[in-house]
Amino acid sequence: MSSERSTAVRDFRHFIGGEFIASESGKTFEKRRPTDNALVGHIHEGGQAEVDAAVRAARDAMQGPWSRMTVEQRTALLYKVADEITRRFDDFVAAEMADTGQPRSMMEHAFIPRGAANFKIFADVVKNVATESFQTPTPDGAGALNYAIRVPKGVIGVICPWNAPLLLMTWKVAPALACGNAVIVKPSEETPGTATLLGEVMNAVGIPKGVYNVVHGLGPNSAGEFLTRHSGVSAITFTGETRTGAAIMKAGADGIRDVSFELGGKNAGLVFADCDFDAAIEGSMRSVFLNCGQVCLGTERLYVERPIFDRFVATLKERAEALKPGHPEDRATTLGPLISQEHRQKVLSYYEKARAEGATVVTGGGIPEMSGDLGQGSWVQPTIWTGLPETASVVREEIFGPCCHITPFDSEDEAVRLANDTQYGLSTAIWTRDLSRAHRVAARIDVGITWVNSWFLRDLRTPFGGSKQSGIGREGGVHSLEFYTELRNICVKL
Ligand code: NAD
Repeated sequence: MSSERSTAVRDFRHFIGGEFIASESGKTFEKRRPTDNALVGHIHEGGQAEVDAAVRAARDAMQGPWSRMTVEQRTALLYKVADEITRRFDDFVAAEMADTGQPRSMMEHAFIPRGAANFKIFADVVKNVATESFQTPTPDGAGALNYAIRVPKGVIGVICPWNAPLLLMTWKVAPALACGNAVIVKPSEETPGTATLLGEVMNAVGIPKGVYNVVHGLGPNSAGEFLTRHSGVSAITFTGETRTGAAIMKAGADGIRDVSFELGGKNAGLVFADCDFDAAIEGSMRSVFLNCGQVCLGTERLYVERPIFDRFVATLKERAEALKPGHPEDRATTLGPLISQEHRQKVLSYYEKARAEGATVVTGGGIPEMSGDLGQGSWVQPTIWTGLPETASVVREEIFGPCCHITPFDSEDEAVRLANDTQYGLSTAIWTRDLSRAHRVAARIDVGITWVNSWFLRDLRTPFGGSKQSGIGREGGVHSLEFYTELRNICVKL
C-alpha cells in the first residue's frame, strides 16, 4: 500500500524575506509520517542566525510598501492568498495529510478550506470595524474631539502546534497581516508542510517580501525559544501546551512584550437525561474522537445523568468500536493515527495509568492491529473508561488522545461542580432539551467557550480563548484586533 502512495522525500527550508533558505549551521532533523513512520522529509533547524535574519526581514518589510498600503489594498491581497490556497487545494491537502496522517475527508471538508477562509474573514473584519470617538467639553466652550486609530503592533512571533497546522496558523497569521503587521511563524516540528507551502502562495500573489516569514526548528534552545526571546519581536501569539505557555510568558516578560495564549484543556461534556440522546451521542463521538482526540476543544471528561448512564456508555462503546482506523486516502477511514511515536508513548502511558488506578476499561486501551506498512504507524485504540475517582490522572490531566472517562451524576449542582473541578477552562458542551437549564448551567461553567446541543460549531466572529490555565486573551472577529493592533487615541482641541 505504502509504496504507490508515498511521496518524494522533502527538504523543508526556512522562508525568510521571500526566499527559501537552508540553515547556516547545516543542521536538519527528520519528519516521519504518522501512518507508517516513513520519512516525509528533512527539516532545517533554525538557530539564532535564522531568527535574526527573519526579524531583520520583517522589520524591513514594516518600513516598505506593506506599511504604505491602504486597508483596501492589503485586504485585496489577503483575498488573493485565500484564492491561491484554494487553487492549490490538492497540494495543501497532500502536505497536511503527510504531516498529520488524518483522513483526506477531514482535510477537504474542514481543515484546508477553513485555513483559506481565515484570510477572507479577517480581511472583512478589518475593513468593517469602527473605532470610538468622543466629543469632549472644554472650559473655553470650543471643545475637543477624541478619536482612536488602530496601528499595527509591528513584528508578531507566531508559535504553532501540530494538531490542525494550517487552520491554527492562519487563525493568527491572517488577522496579524490584515492589521498590517509582519509575522515570523515557527511551525511545530511535527508539521512543517503547509507553513512552507504558504510561503510559495505569498510570493505568487505578491505579498511584499519579509511580511510572512517561516523559521523551522524545535522549542527550547532552538528556533522557538530564540524567536520568543528576540527583542525585535513586538508581540507573541502562541497555541500549545500550558507549560510551554509558561516558558514563553517568561521570555515575553523581557521587553514587556504582549502575549496571546491558546493553551491546553481538560474539557467536560455534560449530558442530562432529558437530552436528544442520538444528538448527544453523535456530538460526543466527534468531541472525543475527531482528529484522533487531538483537538484542544475535545472532551476527555463526560458526565452523564444517572438514568441514562448505562445506555449512554453502551452506545458510545458500540460507536467507538465501529470507528475504522486506516489510510487517510481510503474513504472508509474514520480514525487517523496520533501525530508521532513519541506522542503515542505518552497516550499509552495514560492507558496504563488508567488500569493501574483501577479503571473499568469499557473499550480499547491498547494498539489496534494494522496491516502492512501501517503496522509501523502511531495508532492507538479509541478508549473509554468508567469507575475512576475525580482524583485519577486520566480524569485530571490532558491526554490529547482518542479517549474519555465517563462519570454519572445526580443533580445539576453536582454536574457544574464536577465540570469546574479542573485547572483548565477552555470549553464545555451541554446536552439538554431544557433551555432554562442550558442557560443557567452555561453561565456557571468557568470556560471561555460553551456549546449547547452542539460541539465545535464555530462562528469566527465570536470570542475564542480559555479561562484559568487554558489561555490568556481572546482571538476571533474584532477581538483579534485587540491583540494585533495598538489603539492610539488622538485628541484635537477645536
Ligand atoms: P507544544 O506546547 O509542545 O508545542 C507548541 C509549539 O511551541 C511548537 O511549535 C513547539 O516547537 C514550540 N515550543 C515548545 N517549547 C518552546 C519554548 N520553550 N519556547 C518557544 N516555543 C516552544 O504543544 P503541541 O504538543 O504542539 O500541541 C498540543 C497542545 O496544544 C495541547 O496542549 C492542546 O490543548 C494545545 N492546543 C490548544 C488550542 C487552543 O486553542 N487553546 C488549540 C490547539 C492546541
